[in-house]
Amino acid sequence: MDISEIKHLICDRTAKFLARGTHPLLIDGQWVQSESGQTIDVINPANEEVIGKVASAGKVEVDKAVAAARQAFDHGPWSKMRGAERERLLMKLADLLEANAQSFAEVESLDNGKSAAMAQAVDVAVAVDTLRYMAGWATKIEGATTDISVPFAPQAEFVTFTRREAVGVVAAVVAWNFPLLLAVWKLAPALAAGCTVVLKPAEQTPLTAIMLGELILEAGFPPGVVNIIVGDGPSAGAPLVSHPGVDKVSFTGSTEVGKLIGKAAVENMTRFTLELGGKSPVIVLDDCDPATAAAGAAQAIFFNHGQVCCAGSRLYVQKKMFDRVVADVAQIAQSMSLGHGLDPTSQMGPLVSREQMDRVCNYIDIGLSQGANVVTGGARSGEKGYYVQPTVLTNVNADMRVVQEEIFGPVLTCMPYDDIEEVAAWANNTHFGLGASIWSNNLSKVHRLIPKIKAGTVWVNCHSMLNPAMPFGGYKQSGIGRDLGKASLDSYLETKSVYIAV
Ligand code: NAD
Repeated sequence: MDISEIKHLICDRTAKFLARGTHPLLIDGQWVQSESGQTIDVINPANEEVIGKVASAGKVEVDKAVAAARQAFDHGPWSKMRGAERERLLMKLADLLEANAQSFAEVESLDNGKSAAMAQAVDVAVAVDTLRYMAGWATKIEGATTDISVPFAPQAEFVTFTRREAVGVVAAVVAWNFPLLLAVWKLAPALAAGCTVVLKPAEQTPLTAIMLGELILEAGFPPGVVNIIVGDGPSAGAPLVSHPGVDKVSFTGSTEVGKLIGKAAVENMTRFTLELGGKSPVIVLDDCDPATAAAGAAQAIFFNHGQVCCAGSRLYVQKKMFDRVVADVAQIAQSMSLGHGLDPTSQMGPLVSREQMDRVCNYIDIGLSQGANVVTGGARSGEKGYYVQPTVLTNVNADMRVVQEEIFGPVLTCMPYDDIEEVAAWANNTHFGLGASIWSNNLSKVHRLIPKIKAGTVWVNCHSMLNPAMPFGGYKQSGIGRDLGKASLDSYLETKSVYIAV
């Protein structure tokens, strides 16, 4: 890529970062190239140009990174650091990230295709907040004292308590849709708990993880505490998650790969958390203002171009309002301007890769072949860049693949319903259970519906709201365990029970 073409759109830090040669891997506090010399091309999905190369890790680098993380956990300065010192380092990292927010947002945009403005307002800002929120937990790790009764030793006395201890070396493997944010969702609680980490970002979007590695060293984290290796699933992800030196795997990605990872982890009894796919319903009740519901539904599916695990990809509207709400959503979709993420007037950017664009277009074709109608969109947009038109489908039913399977793009299916019982059944009628939103001001109907929905998060009159203090994760095949909140910290801690006979 010729940086001079976009130099007027990016800050100096971004230009300098992109101008480097092959981006290296971070192992044991050192920036290193891979032993094989293999690299991965990083492609700007807006124009299909290569914007850089990254060293591609294989088993050799996985072994070195795990060994460095093990050494740092067992014997390095990290093993002796108090919670308050870990808190200070995480706070420092948050400050550094905040100070460089613009550059991180620009690189995320060039790497992933998303809007730089949105990346700064959402991805980077929430990553900063997550680091600060989790930093606070580093000084609040506590067990409990319990008085016990021992029937076979009535005279004996015991002091009994539990300790929470860091689980050890964490393998963090994440997806490409929120590259920086997902990395921080894993790193922040793991480091607060006292673990060490080997992070593997998605091979499609490795750049902000590398930038974060630079800030981690600048903040003063000791060598080996965070190691960052880039590589694809088979060559780097699989050897990492099945490595006997890893104590916990924290994964965000597809349900398909999540199942493979869970099986590999169980082989070594490695602990695991799986944040997986979704097919989240948006349920509009009959008391709702149609324009408000339509705006909410459009935002729920088109935010981040539909590449959101909890995207509201199935719209259910009460029969009497169905035509009006669908027409309004279609009108919003038609009016969206597609363009590259550094252009502040773009409302939707390209999908992350050619593979993802083809996958989404293929799903639209499958929908049409099974009888769906296209209200708007329905195809690729343009011939350069991986753009897909925001698409609204009607005449769908619960058996169709576009209703059952995760498309992970800007494609919305719309169905009318009669009553709450019917819509609750349809909402739950996939093997996913990540999120759901209800649009209504009728409190009693809303409260009757919330417990019926089998999903890790239910939003009312909003969608995809996430906060570091609120646990996030899936029911059913959307995952096991939770990111964010105290629940996330707990998943990086073991519980040790101590009995002292006194
Ligand atoms: P993916 O499962 O293909 O890849 C995710 C990560 O796993 C990548 O880093 C990849 O290199 C790695 N990987 C692939 N095969 C592997 C293997 N055999 N062993 C170890 N690692 C392997 O997912 P994707 O296409 O990158 O991301 C999209 C998916 O992520 C969607 O299903 C989406 O819903 C999900 N997601 C879930 C959440 C959540 O919090 N629940 C958040 C974001 C994305």
